[in-house]
Amino acid sequence: MGIDKQGNNKDSFEPGLNIMGKVTVFSEGCRGHLGKEVIKKYKLDNNKSPQQYGIGFKEIWEIPEDQHDEGLVMHTAGWPLDNSTYGGSFCYHAEKNQVFIGYVIGLDYQNPYLSPYDEFQQFKTHPAISKILKNGKRISYGARALIEGGFQSLPTMHMPGALLIGCDAGTLNMPKIKGSHTAMKSGMIAAEVINEYIINNVSLSDYEIKFKQSWIYNELYKARNVKPSFQWSLIPAIIFTGIDQILFRGYLPFTLKHQHPDHESLIPAHKAKKIEYPKYDGKLTFDKTSSVYLTGTNHEADQPVHLKLKDPELPIKYTLNEYDEPSQRYCPAGVYEVDKTEQNNPKFIINAQNCIHCKTCDIKEPSQNINWVVPEGAGGPNYSNM
Ligand code: SF4
Repeated sequence: MGIDKQGNNKDSFEPGLNIMGKVTVFSEGCRGHLGKEVIKKYKLDNNKSPQQYGIGFKEIWEIPEDQHDEGLVMHTAGWPLDNSTYGGSFCYHAEKNQVFIGYVIGLDYQNPYLSPYDEFQQFKTHPAISKILKNGKRISYGARALIEGGFQSLPTMHMPGALLIGCDAGTLNMPKIKGSHTAMKSGMIAAEVINEYIINNVSLSDYEIKFKQSWIYNELYKARNVKPSFQWSLIPAIIFTGIDQILFRGYLPFTLKHQHPDHESLIPAHKAKKIEYPKYDGKLTFDKTSSVYLTGTNHEADQPVHLKLKDPELPIKYTLNEYDEPSQRYCPAGVYEVDKTEQNNPKFIINAQNCIHCKTCDIKEPSQNINWVVPEGAGGPNYSNM
């Protein structure tokens, strides 16, 4: 429902007209294109810990009945990542002999040669996982950034005439890798406050008060120290998390800070160890092209590239030399390539039509040179059952 300039409600609008509303609610999910702008414009993240993100992968498999155990839930941490890289997996045996398998990797990883996509593919070759997937069929693939900063990175969630809710703000409970319930609750609180705002003219800043009075605040508070403890590497973090979560139930009398935004974490390529990933076998592990095919991604042809480079020269003139252009590896859809056909004249290629809208490039590009904007014509991945 919109309200026009005369204050009348309008059920429908002609294209090109302004839609005027008393309150705008930003709820675009993790790293919202508009949310990012309003956080910057209104300095909503002042005095907060830098926001943190992860890239999450998920595949759906149909597996033989004798390998299926409906209801079984598995979570792992670590392998194939090294101990200094934050990440872990989930494996859910769902109904109809389906398995939902996924892997999440913190985007604060340091090695520019790391390929999150290939780490996930390799994860499936672990004997404990490959025996589940053996002779199965992969039917879906998807990837999306997750917001991981939690309690200490939550921005101020109100601004003049607008609220920021759900993963656009950062309400995901990272240790549980669950955010639907918290996002829904933040939306319910927003609805109550907007109702009061319109009827009784209360301030939109009441959103923060109601948020603090809700169970959502307490849940995020108790989970707040898990992610930042992984800056000490896997084993100390697991020991600390055991003490924090089991002994103190999340109420230790201090709050750990996140050190820096994810785009600042890469070390230069010449200081990093190159990583050679095994070839895809087409049974458990697959290339990016066949994975993107499963997403049903489509963009209208001949539209402007929706991955905007602030400086088009930077990928070749700086990022290639300094970090061996990591977008070739962190993009889970193979959108970015460096064409070295002409030895002294490499070219940076953007295959924007393959973009599955995960937002990783917008987050991880070391100079923040890539700006993801909404493509024309509602294009993008067409996930089913994900
Ligand atoms: S181009 Fe960016 S948003 Fe699109 S799939 Fe690649 S990393 Fe994700």
